[in-house]
Amino acid sequence: MDNNQLWQAVLGELELTISKANFTTWFKGTYIIENTNKKIVVGVPNTFTKAWLEKKFKKNIFVILDKITSNEVREIDFLVAPKKGSQPQTTEEKIKEPIIQPTAPTPLPEAMKALKPFTLNDKYTFENFIVGKCNELANAAAKAVAEKPGHTYNPLFIYGGVGLGKTHLLQAIGNAIRNKIKDSKILYVSSEKFTTDFVKAIGSKRISQFKSLYRTVDILLMDDVQFLAGKEGTQEEFFHTFNELHQNNKQLVVTSDRPPKAIPALESRLLSRFEWGMIADISNIDFETRIAILQTKCEEKEISMDPDTIEYVARTVHNNVRELEGALNRIKAHIDLHKTAITKEIIKNILATITSIPRTDSLTPDKILKAIADFYTIEIKDLMGKSREKRLVYPRQIAMFIMREELRSSFPAIGKEIGGRDHTTAMHACQKIAQNLENDEKTRQDFNLIKQKLYA
Ligand code: ADP
Ligand code: MG
Repeated sequence: MDNNQLWQAVLGELELTISKANFTTWFKGTYIIENTNKKIVVGVPNTFTKAWLEKKFKKNIFVILDKITSNEVREIDFLVAPKKGSQPQTTEEKIKEPIIQPTAPTPLPEAMKALKPFTLNDKYTFENFIVGKCNELANAAAKAVAEKPGHTYNPLFIYGGVGLGKTHLLQAIGNAIRNKIKDSKILYVSSEKFTTDFVKAIGSKRISQFKSLYRTVDILLMDDVQFLAGKEGTQEEFFHTFNELHQNNKQLVVTSDRPPKAIPALESRLLSRFEWGMIADISNIDFETRIAILQTKCEEKEISMDPDTIEYVARTVHNNVRELEGALNRIKAHIDLHKTAITKEIIKNILATITSIPRTDSLTPDKILKAIADFYTIEIKDLMGKSREKRLVYPRQIAMFIMREELRSSFPAIGKEIGGRDHTTAMHACQKIAQNLENDEKTRQDFNLIKQKLYA
């Protein structure tokens, strides 16, 4: 086995244990540089990846290597050594100077004035962002970007479902940079505002003003970029804005409710730009993090709840942080109004009145199977069955892909759900559909429609 094969084998195993976004983020562009005297040196693209791999994955990699090589490895080292040509912009190679000069005169007072409506909200900071398993990746990446804008990852693409803290992190980056470098031009904008501004600018022939506003900032924070879907003109303008800023080593951070590949009707050149940098996901909020958030926010709001009750709330309200906050506000209002201590019974009643908390359970493999069967008008039992008929194979692969994407299930678990198949079948299916999403409009459409159904 040569070094490349060995590393591919390790990656194959690792891929089974973590989410896809995590996997791509941390292992894209890694390779074995050296394998001598029971020591393996792994090349990584930058210092941030190095630190993260050492902290989070070293042990795991060691165990896998040990297994594959039958105890032929004693030591693993990580070395920053970007693969030639692997990334169009390796910032560390390129940038020697700090990007933002704090004392630089503002060249465009007009544009600065125009920045007023985009002010950041002070309430979103890193200090009050609670980190757990579901968001540690996105949080670490956001902090790295705030630490050295333009240096570490450019762009940073953060994606995750509604109410999971994307806007919070995006604004925290802006606030952190502003606190360090007072007069840096930071622009926070939703993609919808970008779109309406652009359309207005065209209508009133003020396109050069529009450009001088967006293309001269130091930091561009664009929220909910998925709304650019299908808006060709706006996408084109954003593409040029992106290029201009990126070329000048200005930091771009973008959020979306789904990964770049899953944004429908996104121009491929914009897609490829999003994939240049770091893609970090915030996954569904796990139980421990919900508890941590409830504890912290109860303290903030001076609500006293015993651990049992907190646990009850964490179990009942499980969709996202926004709902948790909503529940706490109701609870707080109740306490203020009735001046009573809170009991589990009271909480039950309060939570029962919150209609935004769906009565149904969250997404399950069964629901995915049912949605797929409905969508393709086939029987669930055929989906699970052994037939290799084309009209069944494709929906089956989509089902596996959605389980992977939406439930973050492991490949063995997916294989088991779909009629007890092997994990390699699941892996193959997911790769196939991921590829299709890139190249095939029909798959993209199907995928989005099914997702809409799932979350309707
Ligand atoms: P999104 O943009 O992903 O829809 P937001 O950033 O608006 O979500 O988050 C919704 C609410 O939840 C905000 O008030 C935000 O401050 C809060 N929130 C989300 N994640 C966290 C977290 N990890 N710690 C503390 N507050 C959070
Ligand atoms: Mg948001």
